[in-house]
Amino acid sequence: MSLIGLEIHGYLDTKEKLFCNCSTNSEKPNTSICPICTGQPGSKPMLPNKEAIKKSIQIGLMLSTKINISENEKNLIWQRKHYNWPDLPKGYQNTLSGSYAVPIGENGKFLGVRIRELHLEEDPAAWDPVTGQIDYNRSGLPLIEIVTEPDFTSSEQVADWLKNLIITLSYIKSIKKSSGIKADVNVNIKGKSERAEIKNIHSISDITKAIEYELKRHEKDKPKFKETRRWNSQKNITEPMRTKESQADYRFISDPDLPAIKIIEKEVEEIKASLPETPEEKLKKLIKKHKIAEKDAKILTKNLELVELVEELSKYVDVKNHISWITIELLRVLNYSKKTLEEVEIQAKHIGELINAVKDKSITELKAKQIMNEFIPKSFSIKDKKGISKIKDSEIKPLCIKVIKENPKAVEDYKNGEEKSLNFLIGKIMSLSNKRADFKTAKDELLKLLK
Ligand SMILES: [Zn+2]
Repeated sequence: MSLIGLEIHGYLDTKEKLFCNCSTNSEKPNTSICPICTGQPGSKPMLPNKEAIKKSIQIGLMLSTKINISENEKNLIWQRKHYNWPDLPKGYQNTLSGSYAVPIGENGKFLGVRIRELHLEEDPAAWDPVTGQIDYNRSGLPLIEIVTEPDFTSSEQVADWLKNLIITLSYIKSIKKSSGIKADVNVNIKGKSERAEIKNIHSISDITKAIEYELKRHEKDKPKFKETRRWNSQKNITEPMRTKESQADYRFISDPDLPAIKIIEKEVEEIKASLPETPEEKLKKLIKKHKIAEKDAKILTKNLELVELVEELSKYVDVKNHISWITIELLRVLNYSKKTLEEVEIQAKHIGELINAVKDKSITELKAKQIMNEFIPKSFSIKDKKGISKIKDSEIKPLCIKVIKENPKAVEDYKNGEEKSLNFLIGKIMSLSNKRADFKTAKDELLKLLK
């Protein structure tokens, strides 16, 4: 049987780095740095970032791990994990993992997969092996590491679980979604092969491919030794990296410059009480409270911003009857402009006005769809927009006459039995009216004239 486990790293969404005040948002390389995060001799870390610890506890609770509370003699002691690599100027990484460390949370479960432990650590710098350049903006960013038991048995199961994990973590706004996740994957076949760890894979699709490649390799070669490998995304293969370090190779010692973290039960209770609803809870709410079909509710819950927009929209319209304005129209315009909902400014109130105007027939559906396009990047009140209301039915007939006169070929084709030509003619009427003619009236009028 295949046994697959994950170590997932995600960037915590904090304003400052873990042990200094440098910003976590920087665009140009090496602009958000100081003596601490570049490991200058003599520099000492500041006290660990409280926000990072709080977010780690939130994640621990969301994954139902047991948080290690200091009243139970479990102080979290910062470790120095030593290794020599160009990305690590001070020669060690500060982490709450390792042989002597107490993790923030342990023994959890998320969607059927056991979570062994959860810890906080600092990220090393980014080193480019081709150019040799190093970017220290990344050095010292707070990272959460989620370690699962080897409970997965296939690559599909891993991909599905990871997608759900990312959605769930985005609900508590603890992880920087834009920075993505990276994962180490370990794979072996029970009783047949020794474990291989594939380091630092950066996307779910690469994780899937690496697992499939490794499972085949293990079936065929039955490796007898533990090994660390890397994923080569150009060749779609894994390659040996080095023989796996044992914990002793890292020479873990507790860091004398950093005090132990004490987590107080009361604080954990407060964080627990303030945790937002999970995707499952939101799904139930959309179905039960707002009566939205399960299929649509599932589309919405993939994105918290979308759910929040619908909840707000329910103040203005009966969302169950108009949900396609969100699940189809809004997603269409976002897709088209390659934007996410977070990158644009859309107010539920404005979408509500638009839907109500279609409902009371003051504007056409086509016009409303066109206005929806204009809602990117910022929505507006249609009350401020002139020339959008439906034209009078009496104004439609002259438009039909004009279109028939100007398109003799299409008229002839239609009379010879080509149904498509009718749609072409209606399209002409709609564009002449600037999408303000009632579609059905235009069609009826046109058919009358063509007889
Ligand atoms: Zn710094």
